[in-house]
Amino acid sequence: MLVSSCRRAALVLLRSAQPQPRNLISFRPQVSAYFCTSSKMANRDKASRQLEEWKKSQAGRTERMTQSTGCPIDNKTASLTVGPRGPILLQDFTFQDEMAHFQRERIPERVVHAKGAGAFGYLEITHDITQYTKAAPFESIGKKTPLAVRFSTVGGESGSADTARDPRGFAIKFYTEDGNWDLVGNNTPIFFIRDPVHFPNFIHTQKRNPVTHLKDPDMFWDFITLRPETTHQVAFLFSDRGTPDGYRHMNGYGSHTFKLVNKQGNPVYCKFHFKTDQGIKNFNRHEAGDLSAKDPDYAIRDLYNSIATSDFPSWTMYIQVMTFEQAETHKDNPFDLTKVWSQKEFPLIPVGKMVLNLNPKNYFAEVEQIAFSPAHMIPGVEPSPDKMLQGRLFSYSDTHRHRLGTNYLQIPVNCPFAAKVRNYQRDGPQCVTDNQTGAPNYFPNSFSGPQDDAKYAQHVFPLAGDVARYNTKDEDNFTQPGSFWRDVLSQDDRTALVGNIAGHLKDAAEFIQKRAVKNFGECDAEFGKRLDEALQQFKQEQSKRSNSSASANL
Ligand code: NDP
Repeated sequence: MLVSSCRRAALVLLRSAQPQPRNLISFRPQVSAYFCTSSKMANRDKASRQLEEWKKSQAGRTERMTQSTGCPIDNKTASLTVGPRGPILLQDFTFQDEMAHFQRERIPERVVHAKGAGAFGYLEITHDITQYTKAAPFESIGKKTPLAVRFSTVGGESGSADTARDPRGFAIKFYTEDGNWDLVGNNTPIFFIRDPVHFPNFIHTQKRNPVTHLKDPDMFWDFITLRPETTHQVAFLFSDRGTPDGYRHMNGYGSHTFKLVNKQGNPVYCKFHFKTDQGIKNFNRHEAGDLSAKDPDYAIRDLYNSIATSDFPSWTMYIQVMTFEQAETHKDNPFDLTKVWSQKEFPLIPVGKMVLNLNPKNYFAEVEQIAFSPAHMIPGVEPSPDKMLQGRLFSYSDTHRHRLGTNYLQIPVNCPFAAKVRNYQRDGPQCVTDNQTGAPNYFPNSFSGPQDDAKYAQHVFPLAGDVARYNTKDEDNFTQPGSFWRDVLSQDDRTALVGNIAGHLKDAAEFIQKRAVKNFGECDAEFGKRLDEALQQFKQEQSKRSNSSASANL
Protein backbone atom coordinates (compact mmCIF):
# COMPACT_ATOMS: atom_id res chain seq x y z
CA MET A 1 0.00 0.00 0.00
CA LEU A 2 1.29 3.45 -0.86
CA VAL A 3 1.27 5.78 2.10
CA SER A 4 2.58 9.23 1.17
CA SER A 5 5.67 10.34 3.03
CA CYS A 6 4.02 13.75 3.46
CA ARG A 7 1.11 12.10 5.23
CA ARG A 8 3.34 9.96 7.40
CA ALA A 9 5.53 12.89 8.38
CA ALA A 10 2.43 14.98 8.92
CA LEU A 11 1.06 12.45 11.37
CA VAL A 12 4.31 12.55 13.28
CA LEU A 13 4.08 16.35 13.31
CA LEU A 14 0.43 16.22 14.40
CA ARG A 15 1.37 14.00 17.33
CA SER A 16 4.18 16.27 18.33
CA ALA A 17 2.54 19.63 17.63
CA GLN A 18 -0.60 18.79 19.53
CA PRO A 19 -0.32 19.49 23.22
CA GLN A 20 -0.42 15.94 24.54
CA PRO A 21 0.11 15.83 28.29
CA ARG A 22 1.48 12.29 28.12
CA ASN A 23 4.26 13.33 25.80
CA LEU A 24 5.16 16.26 27.95
CA ILE A 25 5.02 14.29 31.18
CA SER A 26 7.37 11.67 29.80
CA PHE A 27 9.67 14.41 28.47
CA ARG A 28 10.01 16.40 31.69
CA PRO A 29 11.46 13.72 34.01
CA GLN A 30 14.16 13.01 31.42
CA VAL A 31 15.10 16.66 31.50
CA SER A 32 15.32 16.97 35.24
CA ALA A 33 17.14 13.61 35.60
CA TYR A 34 19.72 14.85 33.18
CA PHE A 35 20.18 18.11 35.02
CA CYS A 36 20.80 16.18 38.25
CA THR A 37 23.37 13.78 36.82
CA SER A 38 25.45 16.31 34.94
CA SER A 39 26.50 18.85 37.52
CA LYS A 40 29.93 18.96 35.85
CA MET A 41 28.22 20.49 32.84
CA ALA A 42 26.11 22.96 34.81
CA ASN A 43 27.43 25.90 32.81
CA ARG A 44 26.26 24.36 29.54
CA ASP A 45 22.68 25.20 28.60
CA LYS A 46 20.18 22.86 26.95
CA ALA A 47 21.07 24.11 23.49
CA SER A 48 24.78 23.35 24.10
CA ARG A 49 23.94 19.82 25.21
CA GLN A 50 21.72 18.83 22.28
CA LEU A 51 24.22 16.24 20.99
CA GLU A 52 24.69 14.64 24.42
CA GLU A 53 20.95 14.37 24.79
CA TRP A 54 20.67 12.80 21.35
CA LYS A 55 23.24 10.19 22.36
CA LYS A 56 21.35 9.47 25.53
CA SER A 57 18.10 9.07 23.61
CA GLN A 58 19.76 6.38 21.49
CA ALA A 59 20.44 4.24 24.59
CA GLY A 60 23.60 2.68 23.16
CA ARG A 61 22.06 1.81 19.79
CA THR A 62 24.20 2.33 16.70
CA GLU A 63 22.52 2.43 13.31
CA ARG A 64 23.92 1.07 10.07
CA MET A 65 25.49 3.77 7.87
CA THR A 66 24.28 3.80 4.28
CA GLN A 67 24.53 5.64 0.98
CA SER A 68 21.45 7.73 0.21
CA THR A 69 20.21 4.70 -1.73
CA GLY A 70 20.19 2.66 1.49
CA CYS A 71 23.20 0.56 0.44
CA PRO A 72 25.40 -0.21 3.50
CA ILE A 73 28.81 1.51 3.61
CA ASP A 74 31.89 -0.58 4.36
CA ASN A 75 34.44 2.12 5.20
CA LYS A 76 33.85 5.86 5.69
CA THR A 77 37.43 6.73 6.58
CA ALA A 78 38.93 6.75 3.10
CA SER A 79 38.02 7.31 -0.54
CA LEU A 80 38.47 4.45 -3.01
CA THR A 81 41.91 4.85 -4.62
CA VAL A 82 44.37 3.02 -6.82
CA GLY A 83 47.09 2.41 -4.30
CA PRO A 84 47.58 4.52 -1.17
CA ARG A 85 48.48 7.68 -3.16
CA GLY A 86 45.50 7.67 -5.53
CA PRO A 87 43.98 8.66 -7.91
CA ILE A 88 40.34 8.18 -6.85
CA LEU A 89 38.13 5.87 -8.87
CA LEU A 90 34.99 7.26 -10.46
CA GLN A 91 33.20 4.17 -9.20
CA ASP A 92 33.44 5.43 -5.60
CA PHE A 93 29.72 6.17 -5.32
CA THR A 94 29.93 6.57 -1.55
CA PHE A 95 32.17 9.60 -2.13
CA GLN A 96 30.23 10.91 -5.15
CA ASP A 97 26.87 10.51 -3.44
CA GLU A 98 27.94 12.55 -0.43
CA MET A 99 29.81 15.25 -2.35
CA ALA A 100 27.03 15.77 -4.88
CA HIS A 101 24.50 16.21 -2.11
CA PHE A 102 26.83 18.48 -0.12
CA GLN A 103 27.21 20.74 -3.15
CA ARG A 104 23.45 21.20 -3.20
CA GLU A 105 22.85 21.62 0.56
CA ARG A 106 21.81 25.26 0.49
CA ILE A 107 18.48 26.45 -0.75
CA PRO A 108 18.10 30.14 -1.64
CA GLU A 109 18.13 32.31 1.45
CA ARG A 110 14.91 34.20 2.07
CA VAL A 111 15.32 37.71 0.55
CA VAL A 112 13.77 39.09 3.74
CA HIS A 113 13.43 37.37 7.14
CA ALA A 114 16.49 35.21 6.40
CA LYS A 115 17.51 34.70 10.05
CA GLY A 116 14.95 33.14 12.36
CA ALA A 117 13.90 30.67 15.02
CA GLY A 118 10.93 28.32 15.03
CA ALA A 119 8.81 26.38 17.49
CA PHE A 120 5.55 24.45 17.73
CA GLY A 121 2.60 24.74 20.07
CA TYR A 122 -1.08 25.46 20.09
CA LEU A 123 -3.77 28.13 20.29
CA GLU A 124 -6.40 27.53 22.97
CA ILE A 125 -9.64 29.49 22.74
CA THR A 126 -10.73 31.19 25.97
CA HIS A 127 -13.45 33.52 24.66
CA ASP A 128 -16.26 33.12 22.15
CA ILE A 129 -15.85 35.18 18.95
CA THR A 130 -18.18 33.10 16.75
CA GLN A 131 -20.39 36.18 16.34
CA TYR A 132 -17.56 37.52 14.17
CA THR A 133 -16.07 34.46 12.47
CA LYS A 134 -16.81 30.88 11.52
CA ALA A 135 -13.06 30.11 11.25
CA ALA A 136 -12.38 26.61 12.57
CA PRO A 137 -9.89 27.49 15.37
CA PHE A 138 -12.48 29.74 17.05
CA GLU A 139 -15.50 27.45 16.92
CA SER A 140 -15.63 26.61 20.66
CA ILE A 141 -14.10 27.66 23.95
CA GLY A 142 -11.36 25.22 24.96
CA LYS A 143 -10.57 24.19 21.38
CA LYS A 144 -6.85 23.72 20.75
CA THR A 145 -5.36 24.13 17.29
CA PRO A 146 -1.78 22.99 16.65
CA LEU A 147 0.51 25.62 15.21
CA ALA A 148 4.05 26.45 14.14
CA VAL A 149 5.69 29.83 14.67
CA ARG A 150 8.72 31.42 13.08
CA PHE A 151 10.24 34.56 14.56
CA SER A 152 12.87 36.41 12.58
CA THR A 153 14.77 39.57 11.91
CA VAL A 154 14.02 41.14 8.53
CA GLY A 155 16.87 42.86 6.72
CA GLY A 156 19.99 40.88 7.67
CA GLU A 157 21.47 37.78 6.07
CA SER A 158 21.06 34.40 7.73
CA GLY A 159 24.34 34.93 9.63
CA SER A 160 23.41 38.38 10.96
CA ALA A 161 23.00 39.29 14.62
CA ASP A 162 19.71 38.58 16.38
CA THR A 163 19.88 41.85 18.30
CA ALA A 164 20.09 44.11 15.24
CA ARG A 165 17.65 47.03 15.16
CA ASP A 166 14.97 45.66 12.88
CA PRO A 167 11.30 44.74 13.04
CA ARG A 168 10.83 41.10 14.07
CA GLY A 169 8.80 38.69 11.98
CA PHE A 170 6.04 36.95 13.96
CA ALA A 171 4.56 34.34 11.61
CA ILE A 172 2.06 31.71 12.76
CA LYS A 173 0.83 28.66 10.84
CA PHE A 174 -2.38 27.18 12.26
CA TYR A 175 -2.94 23.54 11.18
CA THR A 176 -6.75 23.57 10.97
CA GLU A 177 -9.21 21.01 9.62
CA ASP A 178 -10.06 23.55 6.88
CA GLY A 179 -6.43 23.73 5.81
CA ASN A 180 -3.49 25.79 6.98
CA TRP A 181 -4.08 29.39 7.99
CA ASP A 182 -0.96 31.57 8.06
CA LEU A 183 -0.97 34.83 9.97
CA VAL A 184 2.27 36.36 8.74
CA GLY A 185 2.82 39.33 11.00
CA ASN A 186 5.48 41.33 12.77
CA ASN A 187 6.19 42.62 16.28
CA THR A 188 4.79 45.99 15.15
CA PRO A 189 1.13 46.75 14.41
CA ILE A 190 2.16 48.90 11.41
CA PHE A 191 4.65 48.88 8.54
CA PHE A 192 6.90 51.35 6.72
CA ILE A 193 4.89 51.67 3.51
CA ARG A 194 1.26 51.49 2.46
CA ASP A 195 1.66 50.52 -1.21
CA PRO A 196 3.56 47.30 -2.08
CA VAL A 197 4.99 48.90 -5.20
CA HIS A 198 7.68 50.31 -2.87
CA PHE A 199 8.58 47.05 -1.17
CA PRO A 200 11.56 45.83 -3.25
CA ASN A 201 13.07 49.33 -3.25
CA PHE A 202 12.56 49.80 0.45
CA ILE A 203 14.22 46.44 1.17
CA HIS A 204 17.14 47.28 -1.14
CA THR A 205 17.89 50.28 1.09
CA GLN A 206 18.65 47.88 3.94
CA LYS A 207 20.78 45.55 1.87
CA ARG A 208 24.34 46.15 0.73
CA ASN A 209 25.57 48.90 -1.54
CA PRO A 210 25.95 47.34 -5.00
CA VAL A 211 29.54 48.58 -5.35
CA THR A 212 31.05 48.52 -1.87
CA HIS A 213 29.04 45.53 -0.61
CA LEU A 214 28.73 47.48 2.65
CA LYS A 215 25.71 48.70 4.55
CA ASP A 216 25.28 52.22 3.20
CA PRO A 217 24.82 55.25 5.50
CA ASP A 218 22.62 57.10 2.98
CA MET A 219 20.40 54.50 1.33
CA PHE A 220 18.01 53.83 4.25
CA TRP A 221 17.54 57.42 5.41
CA ASP A 222 17.31 58.76 1.86
CA PHE A 223 14.36 56.48 1.09
CA ILE A 224 12.77 56.96 4.53
CA THR A 225 12.79 60.72 4.31
CA LEU A 226 11.55 60.79 0.70
CA ARG A 227 8.60 58.60 1.69
CA PRO A 228 7.31 60.16 4.93
CA GLU A 229 4.62 57.49 5.39
CA THR A 230 7.51 55.50 6.90
CA THR A 231 7.73 57.91 9.87
CA HIS A 232 5.39 56.01 12.22
CA GLN A 233 7.14 52.65 11.81
CA VAL A 234 10.57 54.31 11.96
CA ALA A 235 9.57 55.85 15.31
CA PHE A 236 8.59 52.35 16.58
CA LEU A 237 11.76 50.83 15.17
CA PHE A 238 14.07 53.36 16.79
CA SER A 239 12.33 53.11 20.15
CA ASP A 240 13.80 50.37 22.32
CA ARG A 241 11.10 48.03 20.96
CA GLY A 242 13.31 47.89 17.87
CA THR A 243 15.81 45.82 19.87
CA PRO A 244 13.65 43.33 21.82
CA ASP A 245 15.18 40.97 24.38
CA GLY A 246 14.85 37.81 22.30
CA TYR A 247 11.60 36.64 20.79
CA ARG A 248 9.67 35.81 23.96
CA HIS A 249 9.36 39.36 25.28
CA MET A 250 7.67 41.02 22.35
CA ASN A 251 4.11 41.31 21.07
CA GLY A 252 2.95 40.01 17.71
CA TYR A 253 0.48 41.67 15.37
CA GLY A 254 -1.27 40.43 12.24
CA SER A 255 -0.63 44.08 11.26
CA HIS A 256 -2.95 44.12 8.23
CA THR A 257 -6.67 44.64 8.34
CA PHE A 258 -8.46 41.35 7.62
CA LYS A 259 -12.10 40.51 7.07
CA LEU A 260 -13.86 38.05 9.39
CA VAL A 261 -17.06 36.35 8.24
CA ASN A 262 -19.46 34.48 10.54
CA LYS A 263 -21.73 31.47 9.88
CA GLN A 264 -24.55 33.76 8.73
CA GLY A 265 -22.23 35.33 6.15
CA ASN A 266 -21.92 38.68 7.98
CA PRO A 267 -18.53 40.37 7.71
CA VAL A 268 -16.52 42.72 9.93
CA TYR A 269 -12.99 44.05 9.54
CA CYS A 270 -10.45 42.88 12.08
CA LYS A 271 -6.90 43.29 13.42
CA PHE A 272 -5.07 40.50 15.30
CA HIS A 273 -2.89 41.12 18.38
CA PHE A 274 -0.75 38.69 20.40
CA LYS A 275 0.48 40.23 23.66
CA THR A 276 3.41 38.55 25.35
CA ASP A 277 2.63 36.96 28.71
CA GLN A 278 6.35 37.21 29.56
CA GLY A 279 6.10 41.02 29.59
CA ILE A 280 7.75 43.43 27.15
CA LYS A 281 11.55 43.50 27.60
CA ASN A 282 13.95 45.36 25.34
CA PHE A 283 17.66 45.99 25.08
CA ASN A 284 18.98 49.50 24.87
CA ARG A 285 21.26 50.23 21.91
CA HIS A 286 24.43 49.60 23.91
CA GLU A 287 23.30 46.20 25.21
CA ALA A 288 22.05 45.20 21.76
CA GLY A 289 25.35 46.27 20.18
CA ASP A 290 27.40 44.32 22.75
CA LEU A 291 25.32 41.19 22.27
CA SER A 292 25.62 41.32 18.52
CA ALA A 293 29.34 40.67 19.01
CA LYS A 294 29.16 38.35 22.02
CA ASP A 295 26.18 36.18 21.08
CA PRO A 296 24.79 36.93 17.63
CA ASP A 297 22.40 33.98 18.01
CA TYR A 298 20.98 35.24 21.31
CA ALA A 299 17.30 35.08 20.35
CA ILE A 300 17.43 31.61 18.80
CA ARG A 301 19.28 30.28 21.86
CA ASP A 302 16.88 31.95 24.29
CA LEU A 303 13.78 30.49 22.63
CA TYR A 304 15.30 27.00 22.33
CA ASN A 305 16.45 26.87 25.94
CA SER A 306 13.19 28.25 27.29
CA ILE A 307 11.16 25.51 25.58
CA ALA A 308 13.73 22.80 26.29
CA THR A 309 13.51 23.55 30.02
CA SER A 310 9.68 23.53 29.92
CA ASP A 311 9.46 27.29 30.52
CA PHE A 312 6.92 27.53 27.71
CA PRO A 313 6.37 31.06 26.38
CA SER A 314 2.82 32.19 25.72
CA TRP A 315 0.91 35.11 24.23
CA THR A 316 -2.67 36.27 24.81
CA MET A 317 -4.57 36.70 21.58
CA TYR A 318 -6.97 39.60 21.00
CA ILE A 319 -8.85 41.03 18.05
CA GLN A 320 -10.07 44.51 17.24
CA VAL A 321 -13.25 44.70 15.22
CA MET A 322 -14.58 47.46 12.93
CA THR A 323 -17.93 47.30 11.15
CA PHE A 324 -18.21 48.08 7.45
CA GLU A 325 -20.22 51.22 8.34
CA GLN A 326 -17.47 52.41 10.70
CA ALA A 327 -14.87 51.71 8.01
CA GLU A 328 -16.72 53.84 5.48
CA THR A 329 -17.00 56.88 7.72
CA HIS A 330 -13.75 56.73 9.71
CA LYS A 331 -11.41 59.70 9.33
CA ASP A 332 -8.47 57.36 8.62
CA ASN A 333 -8.23 54.78 5.89
CA PRO A 334 -8.69 51.56 7.92
CA PHE A 335 -6.70 49.64 5.29
CA ASP A 336 -3.60 51.82 5.62
CA LEU A 337 -0.83 49.64 7.06
CA THR A 338 1.09 52.66 8.36
CA LYS A 339 -1.69 53.39 10.87
CA VAL A 340 -3.09 51.59 13.91
CA TRP A 341 -6.71 51.41 14.95
CA SER A 342 -6.88 53.26 18.24
CA GLN A 343 -7.51 50.81 21.04
CA LYS A 344 -9.63 53.41 22.79
CA GLU A 345 -12.01 53.49 19.82
CA PHE A 346 -11.75 49.79 18.92
CA PRO A 347 -11.03 47.98 22.18
CA LEU A 348 -9.11 44.72 22.30
CA ILE A 349 -11.42 41.67 22.50
CA PRO A 350 -9.81 38.64 24.18
CA VAL A 351 -9.74 35.39 22.16
CA GLY A 352 -7.28 32.85 23.53
CA LYS A 353 -3.78 31.86 24.45
CA MET A 354 -0.94 30.79 22.19
CA VAL A 355 1.61 28.49 23.86
CA LEU A 356 4.90 27.27 22.38
CA ASN A 357 5.87 23.93 23.92
CA LEU A 358 7.95 22.07 21.37
CA ASN A 359 11.30 22.76 19.73
CA PRO A 360 11.90 21.73 16.14
CA LYS A 361 13.34 18.25 15.72
CA ASN A 362 15.49 19.50 12.87
CA TYR A 363 16.14 23.13 12.01
CA PHE A 364 16.41 22.81 8.24
CA ALA A 365 13.40 20.50 7.88
CA GLU A 366 11.06 22.46 10.11
CA VAL A 367 12.30 26.08 10.23
CA GLU A 368 14.35 26.76 7.09
CA GLN A 369 11.73 25.00 4.98
CA ILE A 370 8.65 26.40 6.68
CA ALA A 371 6.79 28.57 4.18
CA PHE A 372 4.24 31.14 5.31
CA SER A 373 1.94 33.02 3.01
CA PRO A 374 -0.77 35.55 3.88
CA ALA A 375 -2.71 33.94 1.01
CA HIS A 376 -3.09 30.75 3.08
CA MET A 377 -6.48 31.55 4.59
CA ILE A 378 -9.44 29.45 5.73
CA PRO A 379 -13.21 29.95 5.61
CA GLY A 380 -14.09 32.76 8.03
CA VAL A 381 -10.91 34.80 7.41
CA GLU A 382 -10.63 36.79 4.20
CA PRO A 383 -8.52 39.61 2.78
CA SER A 384 -9.45 43.26 3.17
CA PRO A 385 -8.63 45.86 0.47
CA ASP A 386 -5.33 46.68 2.31
CA LYS A 387 -2.95 47.21 -0.63
CA MET A 388 0.04 45.83 1.25
CA LEU A 389 -1.89 42.66 2.08
CA GLN A 390 -3.01 42.34 -1.54
CA GLY A 391 0.62 42.59 -2.68
CA ARG A 392 1.75 40.01 -0.14
CA LEU A 393 -1.04 37.59 -1.15
CA PHE A 394 0.85 37.19 -4.41
CA SER A 395 4.48 37.53 -3.43
CA TYR A 396 4.86 35.07 -0.55
CA SER A 397 3.57 32.00 -2.37
CA ASP A 398 5.55 33.09 -5.41
CA THR A 399 8.83 33.27 -3.52
CA HIS A 400 8.24 29.82 -1.97
CA ARG A 401 7.73 28.29 -5.40
CA HIS A 402 11.13 29.71 -6.29
CA ARG A 403 12.87 28.94 -2.98
CA LEU A 404 11.40 25.53 -2.19
CA GLY A 405 9.79 24.39 -5.43
CA THR A 406 6.39 23.98 -7.01
CA ASN A 407 5.39 21.34 -4.47
CA TYR A 408 6.46 23.30 -1.38
CA LEU A 409 3.15 22.51 0.29
CA GLN A 410 4.05 18.82 0.29
CA ILE A 411 7.01 19.43 2.60
CA PRO A 412 5.89 17.96 5.94
CA VAL A 413 6.05 21.20 7.95
CA ASN A 414 3.96 22.97 5.28
CA CYS A 415 1.59 20.09 4.59
CA PRO A 416 -1.99 20.86 5.75
CA PHE A 417 -2.09 17.61 7.70
CA ALA A 418 -5.32 18.31 9.59
CA ALA A 419 -7.18 18.66 6.29
CA LYS A 420 -7.11 16.29 3.32
CA VAL A 421 -5.73 17.88 0.14
CA ARG A 422 -7.82 16.74 -2.84
CA ASN A 423 -7.69 18.70 -6.09
CA TYR A 424 -6.61 18.54 -9.72
CA GLN A 425 -2.99 19.62 -9.32
CA ARG A 426 -0.55 16.91 -10.35
CA ASP A 427 3.15 16.20 -10.84
CA GLY A 428 5.89 18.83 -10.77
CA PRO A 429 9.44 18.63 -9.39
CA GLN A 430 9.85 16.78 -6.11
CA CYS A 431 6.32 15.44 -5.96
CA VAL A 432 6.66 13.26 -2.86
CA THR A 433 3.06 12.28 -2.16
CA ASP A 434 1.13 9.47 -3.85
CA ASN A 435 0.11 12.21 -6.37
CA GLN A 436 -3.55 11.44 -5.58
CA THR A 437 -3.15 7.94 -7.10
CA GLY A 438 -5.87 7.06 -9.62
CA ALA A 439 -8.27 9.93 -8.95
CA PRO A 440 -9.31 11.85 -12.08
CA ASN A 441 -6.90 14.67 -12.93
CA TYR A 442 -9.48 16.89 -14.67
CA PHE A 443 -12.65 18.70 -13.64
CA PRO A 444 -15.55 18.38 -14.21
CA ASN A 445 -15.54 14.59 -14.43
CA SER A 446 -17.96 11.71 -14.09
CA PHE A 447 -15.59 9.53 -12.02
CA SER A 448 -15.86 10.55 -8.36
CA GLY A 449 -13.27 13.29 -8.41
CA PRO A 450 -13.40 15.84 -5.54
CA GLN A 451 -16.30 18.32 -5.77
CA ASP A 452 -16.52 22.01 -4.93
CA ASP A 453 -19.21 23.18 -2.47
CA ALA A 454 -21.00 26.54 -2.54
CA LYS A 455 -21.19 26.61 1.26
CA TYR A 456 -17.55 27.74 1.22
CA ALA A 457 -18.26 30.79 -0.98
CA GLN A 458 -16.50 33.94 0.22
CA HIS A 459 -18.29 37.09 1.31
CA VAL A 460 -19.71 38.91 -1.75
CA PHE A 461 -18.83 42.62 -1.90
CA PRO A 462 -19.18 45.40 -4.46
CA LEU A 463 -16.17 47.27 -5.85
CA ALA A 464 -16.08 50.45 -7.92
CA GLY A 465 -13.58 53.23 -8.57
CA ASP A 466 -11.48 54.93 -11.19
CA VAL A 467 -8.54 52.81 -12.26
CA ALA A 468 -5.38 54.89 -11.73
CA ARG A 469 -2.07 54.92 -9.86
CA TYR A 470 -2.72 56.85 -6.63
CA ASN A 471 0.35 58.26 -4.92
CA THR A 472 -0.32 57.89 -1.19
CA LYS A 473 2.75 59.85 -0.06
CA ASP A 474 0.82 62.53 1.80
CA GLU A 475 -2.03 60.71 3.55
CA ASP A 476 -1.59 62.09 7.06
CA ASN A 477 1.80 60.63 7.92
CA PHE A 478 2.36 62.47 11.19
CA THR A 479 -0.72 62.46 13.46
CA GLN A 480 -0.23 58.94 14.83
CA PRO A 481 3.55 59.14 15.31
CA GLY A 482 2.87 62.47 17.04
CA SER A 483 0.49 60.74 19.44
CA PHE A 484 3.08 57.95 19.87
CA TRP A 485 5.68 60.56 20.89
CA ARG A 486 3.40 62.57 23.21
CA ASP A 487 0.94 60.05 24.67
CA VAL A 488 2.63 56.63 24.61
CA LEU A 489 6.34 57.15 25.24
CA SER A 490 7.68 58.05 28.67
CA GLN A 491 10.30 60.78 29.06
CA ASP A 492 13.02 58.08 29.15
CA ASP A 493 11.57 56.38 26.06
CA ARG A 494 11.73 59.69 24.16
CA THR A 495 15.35 60.22 25.16
CA ALA A 496 16.20 56.70 24.00
CA LEU A 497 14.29 57.23 20.73
CA VAL A 498 16.14 60.45 19.91
CA GLY A 499 19.51 58.93 20.85
CA ASN A 500 18.84 55.79 18.79
CA ILE A 501 17.83 57.76 15.69
CA ALA A 502 20.68 60.26 15.97
CA GLY A 503 23.25 57.49 16.52
CA HIS A 504 22.23 55.97 13.19
CA LEU A 505 21.29 59.06 11.17
CA LYS A 506 24.54 60.90 12.00
CA ASP A 507 26.37 58.97 9.26
CA ALA A 508 23.95 60.00 6.50
CA ALA A 509 24.58 62.99 4.22
CA GLU A 510 23.66 66.33 5.80
CA PHE A 511 20.78 67.12 3.42
CA ILE A 512 19.21 63.77 4.33
CA GLN A 513 19.62 64.52 8.05
CA LYS A 514 17.81 67.83 7.54
CA ARG A 515 14.92 66.12 5.77
CA ALA A 516 14.63 63.63 8.64
CA VAL A 517 14.58 66.41 11.25
CA LYS A 518 11.83 68.14 9.29
CA ASN A 519 9.69 64.96 9.10
CA PHE A 520 10.06 64.09 12.80
CA GLY A 521 9.36 67.75 13.62
CA GLU A 522 6.07 67.45 11.74
CA CYS A 523 5.05 64.74 14.23
CA ASP A 524 5.89 66.98 17.16
CA ALA A 525 8.02 70.13 17.20
CA GLU A 526 9.88 68.92 20.30
CA PHE A 527 10.74 65.62 18.56
CA GLY A 528 12.35 67.47 15.65
CA LYS A 529 14.13 69.95 17.92
CA ARG A 530 15.63 67.29 20.16
CA LEU A 531 16.77 65.24 17.17
CA ASP A 532 18.43 68.29 15.63
CA GLU A 533 20.24 69.01 18.91
CA ALA A 534 21.42 65.40 19.21
CA LEU A 535 22.77 65.48 15.65
CA GLN A 536 24.56 68.79 16.32
CA GLN A 537 26.15 67.25 19.39
CA PHE A 538 27.44 64.29 17.37
CA LYS A 539 28.83 66.75 14.83
CA GLN A 540 30.65 68.75 17.52
CA GLU A 541 32.10 65.58 19.06
CA GLN A 542 33.23 64.44 15.64
CA SER A 543 34.96 67.74 14.84
CA LYS A 544 36.61 67.75 18.31
CA ARG A 545 37.89 64.23 17.62
CA SER A 546 39.24 65.15 14.17
CA ASN A 547 40.87 68.35 15.57
CA SER A 548 42.62 66.42 18.33
CA SER A 549 43.83 63.71 15.93
CA ALA A 550 45.07 66.45 13.56
CA SER A 551 47.06 68.10 16.39
CA ALA A 552 48.38 64.70 17.49
CA ASN A 553 49.77 64.26 13.98
CA LEU A 554 51.64 67.57 14.06
P1 NDP B 1 -3.69 53.41 23.54
O1 NDP B 1 -3.18 54.24 24.67
O2 NDP B 1 -5.02 52.76 23.69
O3 NDP B 1 -2.66 52.28 23.16
C1 NDP B 1 -1.31 52.57 23.05
C2 NDP B 1 -0.57 51.29 22.79
O4 NDP B 1 0.79 51.62 22.71
C3 NDP B 1 -0.70 50.25 23.87
O5 NDP B 1 -1.45 49.20 23.35
C4 NDP B 1 0.71 49.77 24.12
O6 NDP B 1 0.86 48.43 23.80
C5 NDP B 1 1.53 50.53 23.12
N1 NDP B 1 2.78 50.99 23.71
C6 NDP B 1 3.02 51.39 24.97
N2 NDP B 1 4.32 51.74 25.11
C7 NDP B 1 4.87 51.56 23.90
C8 NDP B 1 6.17 51.73 23.41
N3 NDP B 1 7.16 52.17 24.19
N4 NDP B 1 6.41 51.44 22.12
C9 NDP B 1 5.42 51.01 21.30
N5 NDP B 1 4.15 50.82 21.73
C10 NDP B 1 3.89 51.09 23.01
O7 NDP B 1 -3.65 54.38 22.31
P2 NDP B 1 -4.12 54.20 20.82
O8 NDP B 1 -4.54 52.82 20.52
O9 NDP B 1 -5.07 55.29 20.53
O10 NDP B 1 -2.75 54.46 20.06
C11 NDP B 1 -1.98 55.62 20.31
C12 NDP B 1 -0.65 55.40 19.71
O11 NDP B 1 -0.08 54.26 20.32
C13 NDP B 1 -0.72 55.03 18.21
O12 NDP B 1 -0.69 56.15 17.40
C14 NDP B 1 0.47 54.19 18.04
O13 NDP B 1 1.58 54.98 17.73
C15 NDP B 1 0.70 53.53 19.40
N6 NDP B 1 0.29 52.10 19.43
C16 NDP B 1 -1.00 51.75 19.17
C17 NDP B 1 -1.34 50.43 19.05
C18 NDP B 1 -2.71 50.04 18.62
O14 NDP B 1 -2.89 48.90 18.17
N7 NDP B 1 -3.70 50.92 18.73
C19 NDP B 1 -0.36 49.36 19.32
C20 NDP B 1 0.96 49.85 19.67
C21 NDP B 1 1.24 51.17 19.71
P3 NDP B 1 1.42 47.37 24.91
O15 NDP B 1 0.26 46.98 25.72
O16 NDP B 1 1.93 46.31 24.08
O17 NDP B 1 2.50 48.05 25.70
